[in-house]
Amino acid sequence: MANGRDIDNHILIAPGSKAPLKGRDPGDDTLFPNRETAEASTAGDAKAIDALQDRLWAERKRALLVVLQGIDTSGKDGTVRGVFNACGPLGVSVTSFGRPSEEELAHDYLWRVHAAAPKKGMIGVFNRSYYEDVLVVKVRKLAPADVVDRRYEQINAFERHLAENGVVLLKFMLHISKDEQRERLQERLDDPAKHWKFNPSDLEDRALWADYHEAYQTMLERCSTAHAPWRVVPADKKWRRNAIIASVVRRTLEDMAPAYPKPDWKPSDFTIA
Ligand code: ADP
Repeated sequence: MANGRDIDNHILIAPGSKAPLKGRDPGDDTLFPNRETAEASTAGDAKAIDALQDRLWAERKRALLVVLQGIDTSGKDGTVRGVFNACGPLGVSVTSFGRPSEEELAHDYLWRVHAAAPKKGMIGVFNRSYYEDVLVVKVRKLAPADVVDRRYEQINAFERHLAENGVVLLKFMLHISKDEQRERLQERLDDPAKHWKFNPSDLEDRALWADYHEAYQTMLERCSTAHAPWRVVPADKKWRRNAIIASVVRRTLEDMAPAYPKPDWKPSDFTIA
């Protein structure tokens, strides 16, 4: 069975790593080789995450921000469903970052992000994130190269600001293979219940696979820091992806050790008529 430290030995990107995607297999089955065990582990972790979130909310001093990044079909939505399904809707805020609106574009790119950062006591999940501003924006040349280049340091500074203000950051790149993406896109074409998920522009992005790979590589090289390291999750199997992420989220919350506040009264002070 994989424990938290084993998992991190496998998926954590050390600050300053060069070409961190090299040699990383999206189908790597070292962690959670067995589906049944993985699913049982995820279910147990999801319950534990809910209980820990209750304490986090009662304490109301810190927040957890889980950033999910990955190309189309990499399983960001499925991760939210699979890992946080036991959490009460009051405790988790999920924000999906799509193409910026006119209003958002009129501000700096972190404006909408900061507004969505979780408040103390909450778990925030970003389904896509400000990293799009060094991924799709870079690959599709939506901003000049020098503007994008400055963003890595800006993002590191922003994350440090959050970290120094009570937000613990967990960043997961969901790493899938090109073959697995083909299968998932094909499913969206084959299954009428999934047609709504298919977007022809996903094929344009698929054609830019190598460019995205390069952009992800640079993002991992430049934005894995001590205060907000990246983890690259082998995500070709959905159940393994969920088990790995649930385990890391649970352990992070356990390490944060949120505590129920002590009231300044005793239960015996009161009688309920
Ligand atoms: P998803 O594909 O995640 O299910 P959408 O269909 O809403 O959700 O797609 C979101 C789209 O918004 C993606 O193509 C993504 O690349 C794009 N996007 C997100 N952030 C930005 C950004 N800052 N600039 C340009 N495009 C962005």
